[in-house]
Amino acid sequence: MLKLYNSFSLSKEDFVPFEKNLVKIFICGPTVYDYAHIGHARIFLTYDLLSRFLVDQGLQTDVLVNLTDINQNVFNKARENSTTYKDVAKFYTSAFENDLQSLGVQSVNRLAYVSDYVSQIEHEVKKLVEKGAAYMAHGNVYLDVSQVKNYGKISQQTASQLNLHRLDIGPGKKNPEDIMLWNCTDDFDFSWKSEFGYGIPWWHMQDTAVAFENFSKNYDIHGGARELLYPHHEAHLAQYQLLSESEVPVKSWVHVGLVFSGGEKMSKSLGNVVWIKDLVGKHGSNLIRLYIFSKHYRDDMEFSEKDMLAKKQLLDLIYLTGMQASDVTHQEISNLICYIIAALQDDLDSPTALARLEELCAEVKNGKSISKTDFNRLREIFGIKA
Ligand SMILES: [Zn+2]
Repeated sequence: MLKLYNSFSLSKEDFVPFEKNLVKIFICGPTVYDYAHIGHARIFLTYDLLSRFLVDQGLQTDVLVNLTDINQNVFNKARENSTTYKDVAKFYTSAFENDLQSLGVQSVNRLAYVSDYVSQIEHEVKKLVEKGAAYMAHGNVYLDVSQVKNYGKISQQTASQLNLHRLDIGPGKKNPEDIMLWNCTDDFDFSWKSEFGYGIPWWHMQDTAVAFENFSKNYDIHGGARELLYPHHEAHLAQYQLLSESEVPVKSWVHVGLVFSGGEKMSKSLGNVVWIKDLVGKHGSNLIRLYIFSKHYRDDMEFSEKDMLAKKQLLDLIYLTGMQASDVTHQEISNLICYIIAALQDDLDSPTALARLEELCAEVKNGKSISKTDFNRLREIFGIKA
C-alpha cells in the first residue's frame, strides 16, 4: 500500500482515496505571465510520477491544475504589451502546455483559468459571509480566521504566532491574520463587478473555487511547492472546510521542496532562472526526469547541470536494458522490481527506486533476463520515452 507524507498530520499515512479507484489531485498551478522554470518542472514531474505510480497500482487519476490569470503580474504584462490579461494568459498557458508535453507529463487532464470562475467565487464568498465566517470591511471581504477550527495546523502555527502576521492590510480587519477574499480597494487594470463592488477575487479564494467547482465536497491530494503552506494552503483549507462543511475535505497535503539555482531562489533579476523550454531543448525529458527523481521530492535541491549530465550513464543503461529485453524475467530481476515498487510505495522514495533500477539494469547487462512487459512497466512508471 502507498504511504504518503501528509503535511497536515506531519506523518506518513496509508493513502486511501475517498473513492475506491479514483484519485483526485489538485495542483496549485502557475501564474500565467511568464515561462515555466525548473522549479515548476519539479512540481509537475513529482505529481506525474505519483500519478503514473497510482495508475500502475490499478487506480485512475483525475488531475486538476488551476491557471492563475487574475493577478497583478498578468495585468502588468498585459499593459506592457498593450493587450488584455486574457491574451497574456493564453500565450503563457500554451507555453506551459508545451512544457508539460515536452517533459512527458501526461497526468494533468484538467487545466482551469481562474477567470472562468469569477461568478462561482462571488457566490462562494457570499456563502462564507452568510455563514458568519467572512465579513466586509471598507469594501473588502475577509475571512474571519478566528471562526475556523484548527486554523494554523497545516503551517504549524499557534494562535499567537498567527497573530504576528500582517496580511492583506486594510482598515476594519477583525484580526491581523484574517485573509482577504475579495479586494475592492486597490486599483487594478482589470476588475470584476460583484455585489461587494468592483474588484478582484483574491488569490486563495480563486483556487478554492476552482477546486470546489470541479471536485465538490472533497478530493484526495492537494499539491504544490512547500512555500505555499502559509498563508495560501492554510487559507485554502479553511475556506474549503467551511464550504464543504467537512473537517477533512482533503485527504493528503503533499508538498514539494524548492529548487535553488546558484544557491539562491530563482529570479529574473538574479539571472539564475533555468527555463524548462531551454533545458528540454538541450537535454531531453528523460535526463531531466532521472535527475529530478534522483532527489527525494520533499527535500530542497540545488539545480546542477553537472549532476544532471551524470544521469546520462543510468539513461544509457536503461536504453541498453530496453534493447536486451526478452520474453522472460529472471527471479532476481523480479525481486529488484519488487524493491522498486516498495520504494515508491514508501512516500514516493524515487532516489531509492532509481538506485534499484540501476542495479537491475546492471544485472540485465550481465546476462539476467527481463521481459519486455516488465521493462515497459518500469519505463512507464518513470515516464522514460523510448
Ligand atoms: Zn493554489
